[in-house]
Order: sequence, then C-alpha cells, then structure tokens
Amino acid sequence: MNTTLPRIRQFRWPLAVMAFLVWLLALRMTNVYVWQAELDDLRSQSQHRLSLFAAHLQGELAKYEFLPELLATEDRLAFPLVHAAGEASLIPTNQYLQKINDIIQSSDIYLMDTTGLTIAASNWNSERPFVGKNFRYRPYFQEAMKGHLGRYFALGTTSNKRGYYFAYPIQRNRKVLGVVVVKVSLGSIENAWHGGPDEFIVTDPDDVIFLTTNPQWRFTSLHPLSAETAEQIKASLRYHNTEVLPLPIQFKEKHGNENHVVSIQETRALTEVGLGNHEKTESSDKQKNKVETEMKTSTKGRTPDPKMNRLEYLMQSVPIAAEGWTLHVLSSLEPVKKQLYRAYVLVSFIFIILVVTVLFLYQRQRRIQEKVFYEQEVRKTLSQARDELEIRVEERTADLAKTNTRLTQEIEEHRRTEAILNQTQEELIQAAKLAGLGQMSTAISHELNQPLTAIRSYADNAQKFLDLNREQDVHWNLTQISDLTARMAKIIKQFKVFARKSSGQSIPVSFKSVLDGSLTILESQIRQGQVTVETDLPEEDLFVFGDMVRLEQVLVNLISNAVQAMLETSPRHLYIQASRDQDMVVVTLRDTGPGIKEEHLSQIFDPFFTTKETGQGLGLGLAISYQIIDGFKGSLKAINHSEGGAMFIVRLPRPPSVQEEHTLKGKS
Ligand code: ADP
Repeated sequence: MNTTLPRIRQFRWPLAVMAFLVWLLALRMTNVYVWQAELDDLRSQSQHRLSLFAAHLQGELAKYEFLPELLATEDRLAFPLVHAAGEASLIPTNQYLQKINDIIQSSDIYLMDTTGLTIAASNWNSERPFVGKNFRYRPYFQEAMKGHLGRYFALGTTSNKRGYYFAYPIQRNRKVLGVVVVKVSLGSIENAWHGGPDEFIVTDPDDVIFLTTNPQWRFTSLHPLSAETAEQIKASLRYHNTEVLPLPIQFKEKHGNENHVVSIQETRALTEVGLGNHEKTESSDKQKNKVETEMKTSTKGRTPDPKMNRLEYLMQSVPIAAEGWTLHVLSSLEPVKKQLYRAYVLVSFIFIILVVTVLFLYQRQRRIQEKVFYEQEVRKTLSQARDELEIRVEERTADLAKTNTRLTQEIEEHRRTEAILNQTQEELIQAAKLAGLGQMSTAISHELNQPLTAIRSYADNAQKFLDLNREQDVHWNLTQISDLTARMAKIIKQFKVFARKSSGQSIPVSFKSVLDGSLTILESQIRQGQVTVETDLPEEDLFVFGDMVRLEQVLVNLISNAVQAMLETSPRHLYIQASRDQDMVVVTLRDTGPGIKEEHLSQIFDPFFTTKETGQGLGLGLAISYQIIDGFKGSLKAINHSEGGAMFIVRLPRPPSVQEEHTLKGKS
C-alpha cells in the first residue's frame, strides 16, 4: 500500500484557515439559533409584563374615568356656575373640591366656567392655585363643552406636573354651565414599575414619551418630530414649554409589526444633577418647585453622550385605542447577549475539543499508517535484499562450484603430480643412495675382502693347529674367525639398512643412533681417508623428528663429502657437534678440507652440480639431502668456516614432548 495520509504540515495554513472558517460558521449558527431562541423567550416574558402594565395603566385611569360625571351631578358645583358670586362665596366649593381630591387621591379637581376660567379648585389654597387660570385651550375642556367626557394628557402649565385630565360638562336643562375636571397624576404608575427587568414607556399619537420608567427618556420622541408637529405640540401647550427632543434610538431589527430590536444611547442628564428618577405625588409647594427645577434640568441636559454605551433592547408595543397612546416595553438584551456569549464560549470550547480530538486521531492514524508503511518498506527491502542475496549466493555457489570443480581437478592433478614427484623423488633418493653405494663399493669390497682374507688365514691356521693338536691355538683362531664374521655381518647389516627404502613417516629418532649408523657405514672410507672424527654431543640423547633411513642418508652424504674433500689436504679432521636450540636440534659438520668456492656456494644444492670428476660424483647428494631435511621441516645450510674448511649446518625439529622422547628412547 503506497497511499498514506497527506502530510498535515503541507496543508497547515489552508487547514487552519478552514478550521477558522468552520469555527466562524459554528459561531454564526450559534448566534442565529441562540439569539432567536433567547429573543423568543424574552419576547414572551416581556409581552406578558407589557399586558400587565397596560392593564395597570388602564385600571388606574378607569378608576377616575367616571368621577367627573359623578361630580357634575353635584349641585354644589353647578350653583356657583349659575350664580356668579365673589371669591369668598366660592370658598365652600373650593373646600369641597379639596376634600373630594383628598378622598379620591387624584392630583387636582377644579371647576371651570364656560369660558374656560377656573373658578374653584382643590388647590385653591396652594402656592400656585388653578383658580383664576383659564384653560380653554385644553382639548379636554373643548370636548366637555361639546357635552361629553373630555380626556387628555398634558404637563400642567401651572403645576408643571404630568397629569391625565378627565373633564365632564355640568349641565342643567340641557345647557352646559361649566366643566368639572379631575386631574390624575401618573407618576405613581412609573414608580410602581420602576426597577423591574424592563423599561416601560407610553407615547402619545406623536410618539412623544410622556410616561416612562426611565426619567431620561421623558419628553423625548421616538422619531424626530416634523416642524409642523413640533409647532402643534408647542401651541397645544401639552408639554407646556418643554422642548421635545428625539430619543437617540435606532431601530435595528424588526420582528413582526410591534417588535423591534432597538439601541438607545445612554444620556447623562439626570444622573449628573442627582435628580430622583420619579415625579413624586406630593402636593406640597416645595416639592412642586423641586420637580419643576428637575424637569427643566432634565429636558435641557438630556443630550446623548457618545462616550456612553448604546444599550440594546427588545421593544414591544401595544396600542391603547381610547387614549390614542402606545405602550412599549423595552427589555434589555444584555441577558440575551450574555447567554449568547456563553454559547459562543461553549461552542468554541467544543470546537477546540473537536479539533484537538481530530488532530489526535489523525496523528494516531498517521502513526499507524507510517508504521505499517515502514514495516512494508522494511519487508520489501528485506525481501529484495534476500532475493538479491539468493541470486548472489546462487551465482557465487555456481562460481564456487566451478572453482571447486577446478580446484578438485587441480588437486587431483596436483596429487598425481605429487605422486609422480614423490615417486621420482623416491627413485632419485634411491638412485642417489645406490650411487653412494656404488661410490662406496670399493671401500665395501675392501672392507669385506680384508676380513675374508683374514678369515681364510685364520681358517688355514686353525687347520694347521688342529693337525698339530694345538687345541688352544685352534680355539683362538676360530674365535678370531667368529669375531670377524660378526663384524662383517654388522657392516652388511648397515648397508642393508642404508639401501632399504624409507617408510616416509616422521617419528622421533635418536640422533646418536643415526650418527652411529652413518659412521659405521663409512667406517672403512673414513679409515682409508685417514680422517679423524671428533663428535661433541650432549650427555642426554637428542631426539629429532624424522626418519632413521633418510637421516642416515643425509649424514652419510655429508660425512662422505667431507672425507672426499679432505683427501688432498692435511690434517684431516671432521668435527661433528649437536646441540639443542629451543625446539630444534642443531648439527654442525666441520671439516678441514679446502672449503667450498664462493661462486659454488649458491649452486651446491642444485641437482647434478658437482665439481668431482666423472664417475666420482653425480651431483645429487646435497640436492637430495636438502629435500629430505626440508621435508622434515628443518633446514640445511653450507658455509665456509673462518679458519678454513667447509661447514654444514643441519637444523631439525625436536619431537613435541620430553615424555614422548623418553617413551621412544625406551623403545629404541
Ligand atoms: P657429488 O658429491 O656427487 O659431487 P654433492 O651434491 O654431494 O654431489 O656435492 C656437490 C658438490 O659440493 C661437490 O661436487 C663439491 O664440489 C661440493 N662439496 C660438497 N661437500 C663438500 C665439502 N665438505 N668440502 C668441499 N666441497 C664440498
């Protein structure tokens, strides 16, 4: 399998960008879903509160709605209208109105004549009494004069207090005598709803806020007023001389007809002057003055401050047809936003966990794949290597087989050659020995003739002494004969040993035996040559590793050469010395002959090199001796002695152990 996961490093940035985009998408989806869900939730909650608020407001107004009609039936009010009298005569009427006002807890109650002039009022005794004031410009008066209930909301021009006015005509005999007005303060409603989770506002048909739980919004409009509308409002004195400014509100999202998401810039106005938020219901003059001042300040200082926050609300509205008002509830979106931020955090957290998990799983998968891949690669490489090895082994085996065959053939050939060589060598050695015997034949025949002649003489003597009955002499002669035959047998035995073929095996051999044997063979030659042989051997018998016959052949050859070399010189001494040198036995044979010429030193071991006359030497003696010694892993060297004469040095290996030496010594 060659396919592997793509390396994440190569795609790091595209993947990061993709992850970022996915994260953004997740946030966007969270936003849509949570926002909508929370908004729906909020909507239903504040909708409910809006209904309650509307019910409360309408309930408050309804309480007073029929009071003017009731008061209009009161003759105590109709009477002064019919019988115009002095101010003093109106005191009971004023007191009556004051009493009723106290009972029903309205703001003010006052009586107007048909010209709109207030002739009696519940606040007749206050600092700013309505008595003497003409309110004919008020729509409620005009409505009442038409014979039915007049209702109107306005900021009192005298009291500077917001109030809802119910006016009813006092009629007698279908004639309108005057109008009785009950003014209701709505400040208590603001107080009741203030401090809740929502802000409530009530707007007039021109969208001017006249009632609100947030005093900063009071007498502002939801939309900028047209010049014409502003003029009309001013003319109607509805809000006295309060300037109506637009509320810094932005309508953002629209949900259905009556639902909006809006943002309102906070204003600093009232909070800065430390004004209490609410219009109090107290009726004392002092308080009235305070409220007036506050109202002025509030309207003048109500300017949007860009440094302050814009707060977002869900705004829901419900119209109140009777008054032409619209009730609005503004629910802060802060909880929704908080909820949304929480959801963002949660989604981001889940996203991070997912990314980490995916990365972890990817890395794990990648490691597994890499492992599998490398294992396969290793297996493949191993198998290739094995195949190559097998091929190489096969080739090599074939080569080796060929070489082996060739070697076997060569070995075979070598063996054959060796066999031939061995045979040739054997034959040569044998030839050399026989040649040596040939050379020695004169000496041998002389050696044997002499005792034979002596034996014959002793036998003749013995015969003669037998005839003479000289038994003792006969005995002596026969003893001599016996000794001589024993000696002859000994000589013949040596030659027999010398002439026989070697076994070719290396065994520990006593050097003394070899030397003795050799000297015995050459005894007559040495004697004839008048050579004195001096041997210098150590006390202990020295053993060498070799073959008795061959070693004798070497020594016979060396001694014989020395004897022959000394025939023309004098004195004639042959020194034979043997000693141990570590694992070797060193034998030196030094003669007092003429020595070897320098130019011949490098040649004397060559086959067929001889300086002797024809028939005297074959030139094989030293060549074969060299081969024999070399075969025993020894060495043979020739030098000229500093005092004259030739010196041959033979080095032969000693047997492995002394114990063996003793064993073999015992045998010999
Ligand atoms: P051959 O004895 O048949 O000549 P060798 O191989 O035994 O053959 O000797 C080769 C030659 O080495 C001899 O001809 C002789 O010149 C020289 N030689 C050998 N031994 C001695 C010696 N002890 N002194 C002087 N020359 C020697």
